[in-house]
Amino acid sequence: MSVATDLFDRQLRDLRVSVTDRCNFRCTYCMPKEVFGPGYQFLPREQLLTFEEITSVVGHFVARGVEKVRITGGEPLLRKGIEQLIGLIAEVDGVEDLTLTTNASLLARKADRLAEAGLNRVTVSLDAMDDETFQEMNDVGFPVATVLEAIDVAADAGLGPIKVNAVIKRGVNEHAVVDMARHFRGTGHIVRFIEYMDVGNSNGWRLDDVVPADQMLEAIHAEFPLEAKPANYPGEVANRFSYLDGEGEVGVIASVTKPFCGSCTRARISAEGSMYTCLFASSGTSLRDVIRSGGDLAATIDEIWGKRDDRYSEIRSSNTARLSVPVEMSYIGG
Ligand code: SAM
Repeated sequence: MSVATDLFDRQLRDLRVSVTDRCNFRCTYCMPKEVFGPGYQFLPREQLLTFEEITSVVGHFVARGVEKVRITGGEPLLRKGIEQLIGLIAEVDGVEDLTLTTNASLLARKADRLAEAGLNRVTVSLDAMDDETFQEMNDVGFPVATVLEAIDVAADAGLGPIKVNAVIKRGVNEHAVVDMARHFRGTGHIVRFIEYMDVGNSNGWRLDDVVPADQMLEAIHAEFPLEAKPANYPGEVANRFSYLDGEGEVGVIASVTKPFCGSCTRARISAEGSMYTCLFASSGTSLRDVIRSGGDLAATIDEIWGKRDDRYSEIRSSNTARLSVPVEMSYIGG
């Protein structure tokens, strides 16, 4: 196997596969109700990659260097038969780490089957510890307690260590940083605080809404002293910090204030099978068309990755005028 490298010598190591563009939450920073309302046209079923097609795509990516596969969406647990897909991907030789990102609404009832099918770990999204803030952010009235129960069930099923992702937006949930650090310290679960990003075109992003990761760390450090930890592996998106009192670790994903394009090894596949080489891309290449027309998938992936020169976050500025409309995170997958 030879590892594919792009124009900046970045290897192809991770694959994120979106299995649906639908979600049962309407997080205001991701799928706001005003845009993703009852009239919104989601992808019709026949346009989604089938499980066999997804598995074949994963196999081709593994043959060019991918070791980590993350299933995402939309809400991936809404995809019917997701356990069966996990089983198929888990059997692909060379998949070292198979994970899934979820809002946890269906996790408690699916955790055992997902683990049995071969899922290694889950990442759960949760943006606050208080219902008032969390429900305002998910905008469907989903309670914190159900997410916490699902985290426990998933941990019992062997899907840990569980990472808990929190997007922090100024004026909305800054207080959640210390609340969440306090709650998850000592549990073995790892909270990662994410800077609010300008993905998609629906959330009305402004640089002023971003709480810099350094500010989040200062707030935690003032209450629970921290020290920096080395990365687990090259290209890890989160910067890691451990509590000096030994109660575990937290991470920050500073994609706005400290972009990590230089070490980005991720490719993304949308639910309809388009390959994207950056979260902030405005267009992708349909691998579904290549598969369904009997084309050369391996050559197509090599060509796309070989030409990759994306580094959006590094050249972003507060007044970046976008020349084209970026795809939504719910479509391309977080
Ligand atoms: N539905 C699943 C979930 O809730 O985890 C998977 C998809 S969701 C798009 C993946 C992650 O992207 C979530 O943790 C979400 O909070 C994050 N996300 C969405 N929009 C974001 C934004 N504008 N900035 C930072 N993170 C964002």
